[in-house]
Amino acid sequence: MSRIALIGVPSDCGSSHLRGPARAPKLIRAALLSPHSNRSAENGFEIDREIIINDRGDVRLANRAARVEQDDAAIEAAVAGALADGEVPLMLGGDHAITLPVVRALAAVHGPLNILHIDAHPDLYDDFNGNPRSHASPFARIMEAGLAKRLVQIGIRTANAHQREQAARFGVETVPMRDFDAARVPIPAAPLYITIDLDGLDPAYAPGVSHHEPGGLSVRQLLDVLQCIDVAIIGADIVEYNPRRDLGGVTATVAAKLVKELGALISLQ
Ligand code: MN
Ligand code: MN
Repeated sequence: MSRIALIGVPSDCGSSHLRGPARAPKLIRAALLSPHSNRSAENGFEIDREIIINDRGDVRLANRAARVEQDDAAIEAAVAGALADGEVPLMLGGDHAITLPVVRALAAVHGPLNILHIDAHPDLYDDFNGNPRSHASPFARIMEAGLAKRLVQIGIRTANAHQREQAARFGVETVPMRDFDAARVPIPAAPLYITIDLDGLDPAYAPGVSHHEPGGLSVRQLLDVLQCIDVAIIGADIVEYNPRRDLGGVTATVAAKLVKELGALISLQ
């Protein structure tokens, strides 16, 4: 049974249009601990019984684009600390730019990863508005650096010509939203990293994101995919929660549910 390191990454300096995800970790934790919620995952595992979570707090960050290297180093050190203690890191973003340093730290220990990526967007821009480190480019940087062997993207519904070229160049496997069937999603082998951009969900289920893109996954479809996974998960993140756009805290509740479900999956191993 693996112990989980919960690590908050309050960073939104990689957001291209709207800040806000830096406030997410604290609110996702509050939803997880809320008396309105409960502690059980769908497989029957419970927090503090089968799901052991060590909350390592938030990484201290400058959260300014000019300090991105220092912030990356702090994020990598936090992940490395969890790994040194034998824990599986579960990261609470933050915007999607945080996934690059997290994957870098994991690949330093495990070698190149296999990644299951849930998102409305491929996040493969060579650069976006001149910025190669925004939340629109983390998977271009990950693939260029050889940090991933296999990248499977699901929920994608905004791939333009440039991003389709990038996907072909890097050998990215895209599962389109059209005719989506959870049972047909290819689940990569271990070592598996799972990255969940909440805008992969339909905005009807998760309105608290910076970029609403209708036609996405239901929470149920995403859980169906996750519950098919039977390989070792070496880390995960939940990113792009933007409380400024949320309605009644529903997206924080979805994120907290995903913490429990990812926690249950990690605890199976
Ligand atoms: Mn993303
Ligand atoms: Mn996205």
